[in-house]
Amino acid sequence: MTTRRLGLLFVVCAPSGAGKSTLLAALCREFPELAFSISATTRAPRPGEVDGRNYHFMSEEEFSRLRDTGHFAEWARVHGNFYGTPMRPVVDQLAAGRDVLFDIDVAGADQLRQVFAEGAYVFILPPSKAELARRLSGRGTETPEVVARRLENAAGEIAQAPRFDYLVVNDDLDTALDRLRAIYLAERSRTRLSPDLVEELLAQFA
Ligand code: ADP
Ligand code: 5GP
Repeated sequence: MTTRRLGLLFVVCAPSGAGKSTLLAALCREFPELAFSISATTRAPRPGEVDGRNYHFMSEEEFSRLRDTGHFAEWARVHGNFYGTPMRPVVDQLAAGRDVLFDIDVAGADQLRQVFAEGAYVFILPPSKAELARRLSGRGTETPEVVARRLENAAGEIAQAPRFDYLVVNDDLDTALDRLRAIYLAERSRTRLSPDLVEELLAQFA
C-alpha cells in the first residue's frame, strides 16, 4: 500500500541516570526508521560522543545566537548547561512521514507540548533513589559534584511524571524495553497518523 503516513512525535523524559539513553539506543537499533532529534548543547562531549550524532556541541555564544534567532523548538538550562531542539529537522522529518524521537528534559517537554500537542509523552522512572544514585555514579562519566547536582534535581523532575501520557519503570532493562516498544507501536498505530488508509483499501472494494 502506498498510503500517506504521518510522522509521530515520540518524547521521552527521565531523571539523569534512570537509563533513558540505554533504552532509547536499543529502541533506535530496533527501529532504524525512527529519527533521533539531535539537540544542541553547551555541555562538553563525553568520551565516545560524536558531534552531529549525539549532540551538536557548541559554545554558549553560539547557542545564544541560535536561540535568539528562533532556531529552537524548545530550549532549557538543565544541570547547569543549555540544551535545545533545532526546529527545522523536526518539521522536515514529520512532514516526510518519519517518526521523531526526543530525549529532552521535562521543561523542554512542556514547551514542545505547546507546539506539538499530539505527540506521545513518556516518562522513565528509576526503581528507587538508591538505584538511581548507583547508576549515576556507576556510569563514571561525571564528577561527584555533577552526580550530586543531578541527584538533587531528580525529585523535581519525578514530581512532573504524573503529567506524562505513559510511565515506564526501568528496573529490569528488558522488561522496560518491552514496555517502551509496546507504547511506541501502539502510538504508531493511531488512526490520525494514517488518514487515508481506510479510504485506499475501500477503493479496492468499489
Ligand atoms: P540516562 O540516559 O537516563 O542518564 P543511562 O542510559 O546512561 O542513563 O544509564 C545510566 C547507567 O545505568 C548506565 O551505566 C547504564 O548502563 C545503567 N543502566 C541503564 N538501565 C539499567 C537497568 N535497567 N539496570 C541496571 N543498569 C542500568
Ligand atoms: P545529558 O547531559 O545527560 O546528555 O542530558 C541531560 C539532560 O538534558 C537529559 O534530561 C536530557 O534529556 C536533556 N536534554 C537533552 N537534549 C535536550 C534538549 O534539546 N532540550 C531539553 N530541554 N533538554 C535536553
